[in-house]
Amino acid sequence: MSMEGRGLLVVVSGPSGAGKGTICKGLLETKKDIVVSISNTTRLPRDGEVHGKNYFFISREEFLDMISKDGFIEYAEVYGNYYGTPRRYVEENLHQGRDVLLEIDIQGALQVKEKYKEGVFVFILPPSMEELKARITKRGTEDEKEILRRFESAYKEINYVSRYNYFIINDRVDTAVEKLRSIITAEKCRVDRFKMKLIGQ
Ligand code: 5GP
Repeated sequence: MSMEGRGLLVVVSGPSGAGKGTICKGLLETKKDIVVSISNTTRLPRDGEVHGKNYFFISREEFLDMISKDGFIEYAEVYGNYYGTPRRYVEENLHQGRDVLLEIDIQGALQVKEKYKEGVFVFILPPSMEELKARITKRGTEDEKEILRRFESAYKEINYVSRYNYFIINDRVDTAVEKLRSIITAEKCRVDRFKMKLIGQ
């Protein structure tokens, strides 16, 4: 009987401005036994963003080529740019028993949920819609039209919370990070996961 098996796929998602990125960053600072998948995007880098750290910034042609080679476990067009999760990195790590964290939008998370039913899907909610708007505005990298677009889209997206396993209201980053850590810990203790490993799934 072995406790070894596939790693846990943790998908953190939610509307833009809810604070997914900050929470994931906070988790990774102290949790060293999980790897984060770096997405490919056709979006241009913002100031300070680094290729291979924040994203792999690639051209539209390269992105389309990866789609045609089934190189993504999911991809989506978000605010006019493509974003995708590279298949190889995720599969290899899960196969080697490492837990993998994805921080992706809702369309992408729902695609992953279709294919990776054993994944853990966590929805990050802003404390209020006013706060959400303030955060999207404060980021300061988008113009007014783009801010409004992101806010409207976030407003609609909140309803998708019902498709997820867990929600976290991001009113304080440290408690939100702690909740995410606890969710992962609890999921790794689940008997039904252990049974899945025993029958070799
Ligand atoms: P941003 O342009 O602000 O970095 O990201 C915009 C949105 O795209 C965010 O909601 C972010 O979580 C999402 N995103 C980042 N990487 C991926 C990915 O690989 N797939 C999908 N579906 N969404 C992603």
